Amino acid sequence: MWKKFIPFALADNIYEIEPWFYKKYGATTLICDLDNTLDAYYTMKPSKEAQELIKKLNDNGIRVIIISNNISNRVKDYAKELGCEFVSSARKPFRYKSRKFIKKNHIDLNKTIYVGDQVFTDVLFANRIKIKCVLCNNLVEKDQFFTKINKFFDKYLRKIIIKKELAKNWRDM
Ligand SMILES: [Mg+2]
Repeated sequence: MWKKFIPFALADNIYEIEPWFYKKYGATTLICDLDNTLDAYYTMKPSKEAQELIKKLNDNGIRVIIISNNISNRVKDYAKELGCEFVSSARKPFRYKSRKFIKKNHIDLNKTIYVGDQVFTDVLFANRIKIKCVLCNNLVEKDQFFTKINKFFDKYLRKIIIKKELAKNWRDM
């Protein structure tokens, strides 16, 4: 059961991960979380850094899809500005809504990598739908209230993962 909380790799943030990493595992699709992974939850428009990242990945033949638990308008506006496909109100770690999207859009999960910032939503979700997951540190300290409750357990699990070396940094893979 605990295996479901172990990420495939660790990263400080999504911005440091180079395209070679995705290519090494044959990934042509990157699914990523939005809040605290690409930008802070209160950021309505994608940062310049986010725009450059998506462009760099697209130029390397990697399709980027945002799957977020946040509500539709915020995710929609943000993703559209980036030119990314998206799923909002995804209810990760539950699979139902994302699975529907994945099926409909013919996404090959064997050629997909997931990047997110939370053990209980992102890592668990990715492992449940069987995609390799990179767990990042939180981009900013500030979080929404519900996320704060999760954070307590998140910190605890993260400590174990690092201490017991259950996952390596993406650069060392
Ligand atoms: Mg997040």
